[in-house]
Amino acid sequence: MSCFVDLTTAQIRELLAGMGEPDYRAGQLQHWIYQRLAISFDEMTGLPGRLRQGLAGRMRLHSLTPQQEVMGSDGTVKTLFALADGKTVESTLMPSPTSKGHTRYTVCLSTQVGCPIGCPFCATGQQGFERNLTPGEIIDQVLYFARRLRDRAGESPGSAITNLVFMGMGEPLANYDALWQAIEMLNSPQGFGLGARSMVISTSGLVPGIKRLSQEKLQVGLAVSLHASENALRSRLVPVNKKYPLEELIPVCREYVASTGRRISFEYALFTGVNDSLQQARSLAHLLGGLNCHVNLIAANRTTNPEFRSPVRATVLAFERELKRLRIACTLRQGKGLDIDAGCGQLRSRFLSESKSRVSVRKLA
Ligand code: SAH
Ligand code: SF4
Repeated sequence: MSCFVDLTTAQIRELLAGMGEPDYRAGQLQHWIYQRLAISFDEMTGLPGRLRQGLAGRMRLHSLTPQQEVMGSDGTVKTLFALADGKTVESTLMPSPTSKGHTRYTVCLSTQVGCPIGCPFCATGQQGFERNLTPGEIIDQVLYFARRLRDRAGESPGSAITNLVFMGMGEPLANYDALWQAIEMLNSPQGFGLGARSMVISTSGLVPGIKRLSQEKLQVGLAVSLHASENALRSRLVPVNKKYPLEELIPVCREYVASTGRRISFEYALFTGVNDSLQQARSLAHLLGGLNCHVNLIAANRTTNPEFRSPVRATVLAFERELKRLRIACTLRQGKGLDIDAGCGQLRSRFLSESKSRVSVRKLA
C-alpha cells in the first residue's frame, strides 16, 4: 500500500484529478498534514467525507510506527521507528535552550536503513546496508517529533523545530533523490515551511553528490565527515575514501564553496592514538588552508569497537588549540545525549542485539 507523504505536490494534484477533485484540495490536504500534523485522513474535518474515505481506502497517510524511546538527562530524545516492512530506523530530537528562555529543537534524521559505507567506528556502519528510505519515511521523522512537541510540551507546530541535520543512520547523498524530495517538502511553504539554511546534510564524502548539491537552488548546509587528513588513515576510517580520495574530495569542496558562496563544515571525530596528535592537527590545517570552512571537533562517542576510544579532555583541547593557532575556525562539539548513546545507529544496535541497557527504554509499540 502506498503512502501519502511520499507524494510530491504535483503527484498529489494528479491523484486528486484522477478522483475528480479540484486542485485546491491539494493545499488543504497539505495544510492538514504539515501544519495541523494530522495522523489520519479521518480527522481532516474540513474535507468532504468521500475524499477522506477515498484516500483512506487507497493509501496510508504516514509511514512510521514508534517502537521504543530513550530520553537523556539533557532532554535528548531518541526514538526507534518501525517502517511498513518491519525494518527499523532511529532519529533524535535535541533541545538547545536559548538566551531568551525558549528551547530550540534540532531533529537528527536518518536517510537509509543501515549504511553501505561501513566506517568501523560507527554503530550504523556495523549494521550493513538494507535499503534507502523513501521521501515520506524521511519527512515522517520530522512530523513525528513536531507532533510529540505539540502534544507533550504545548509547542506550536513549525515554531518548535528550528533545525534539521541529516546525520542519523545512512549516507544521505547515496539516497539523493529521496533526500531532495523530502527537503523540498520540508522547506516548501505548502509543506513544513522550514528554511533551507536551517538544514545540514552530512556526508562521508560522495564526490558526485557534493557536485550535484552545489548546483541546487536551495541553500542547504553541507558538512563533510573528514576524520583524517591523509589517505591511508582516511581510507581505514571512512572506506569510501578509496573511491573518492582526498585529492578529489577537497577540490570538490573548494568548488562547492566557490559556486554556492557558502562556508562548508568538516566533521573531525577524535579517536585516541588514531587521529588526535598535534602533528595530525597541523596536517589537517594544511589540507584545509585557504578554504572557507569550519571544523567541528567531536570527541568520539563510545562504541563497541575497542580501537576507537575518545581521547582525554586535555588531548582534545590541545588539538583544538593547535587548529586555532593555525587559523582554522573550529568548535568543540559537545556530544548530545551521551548517556543514551545518541550517536548514530546506537539505539538500533542495542535493539537488534536485544542487550540490556543502562538507561530505561520505553516501549511504545
Ligand atoms: N553518513 C553521514 C551522516 C551520518 S553519520 C556521514 O558519515 O557524514 C553523522 C556523523 O556521526 C558523521 O560525521 C560520523 O562520522 C559521526 N560518527 C559516527 N559514529 C561516531 C562515533 N562513534 N563517534 C563520533 N562520531 C561518530
Ligand atoms: Fe555510514 Fe556515516 Fe556511519 Fe560512516 S559514519 S557508516 S557513512 S552513517
